[in-house]
Amino acid sequence: MNKPSLCKGCAESVIVTEEVIQELVEEARENPSKIVSEEVYSSRLAACEACQSLQYGTTCAHSGCIVRYRAMFKDKKCPSPSSPKWHSDKAPA
Ligand code: SF4
Repeated sequence: MNKPSLCKGCAESVIVTEEVIQELVEEARENPSKIVSEEVYSSRLAACEACQSLQYGTTCAHSGCIVRYRAMFKDKKCPSPSSPKWHSDKAPA
């Protein structure tokens, strides 16, 4: 049996299961006022899927976040320091 890959910093597995991601996504959907439209979400995920900073198909190398979770939130933005590929979706103040 293969050992899971471990993050050297925290000793937690960096491989996240589909089940865990689904739980996170469902939890986020309980607060619809905080999440972006399906259209914006799909566009953000398409950018992540084409990005070289996406690790294991799930995780952003810059933030350490699961992109399918982070991309749901209006107040989140792509954390790439050189060329952010998507921006927060907050209404102007
Ligand atoms: S750098 Fe931006 S586009 Fe790339 S994986 Fe991270 S959040 Fe997604």
